[in-house]
Amino acid sequence: MAESKAILELQTKAPDELTSEEKIVRIGQLAERASICVACGLSRTRSHVVFGEGNPNAPLMLIGEGPGQNEDSTGRPFVGRSGVLLDECLKENGITRKHVYLANVIRCRACVMENGRLQNRPPTPEETKACAPWLDQTIQLVQPRVILCLGAPSAASIIHKGFKMTQERGQWFESRYARYAMAAWHPAYILRLQGEAYEAARRDLVNDIANARLKVISAKKEPKMTLF
Ligand code: SF4
Repeated sequence: MAESKAILELQTKAPDELTSEEKIVRIGQLAERASICVACGLSRTRSHVVFGEGNPNAPLMLIGEGPGQNEDSTGRPFVGRSGVLLDECLKENGITRKHVYLANVIRCRACVMENGRLQNRPPTPEETKACAPWLDQTIQLVQPRVILCLGAPSAASIIHKGFKMTQERGQWFESRYARYAMAAWHPAYILRLQGEAYEAARRDLVNDIANARLKVISAKKEPKMTLF
């Protein structure tokens, strides 16, 4: 009886009233519910729902577009070569995955059969819309002070529609999800470049993470924003 009362209290507490431990429990419960989601057709082709990982109490959240093949087979965000590159760029700023929370706009891999192989494809607007409640609830729980969007699709969902990476990357915006949101190159995009273009884009990502880290430090001195 006492246990069920404690569970009910935990479910009904507002996110900003949760202790760090309670937030971890609530994120775990949300991930468990998402793991059986069939709200869109991607549920039929996925191996795993890739919910997110990291520190649910982190002031900095990194959000990509969606899982690829490696993420789909492991159930973890940002693994494979792009995950290695992201980890390297975080490390150059003294940051590990334990200091941030990583998630994607959609939780299941969007893919299409081409030449006998499943290839990644951008999610449709309907798929993105179907998955939005999971992203909303995750951000509501984590309550990041700063969001770094990785890639244009993420920036279009978090910052504004029609986001132009070449013109708007590296600039700060206010978003309904966090007071400070910025976009950086997605590591998978950087890996498609070569030579000086690769080096320049990699440097941009390291610098954008550095800016996000500094923004977290200054934002911590401000009162928290009420989300949604
Ligand atoms: S992509 Fe999102 S909405 Fe679609 S099945 Fe996966 S978790 Fe559910």
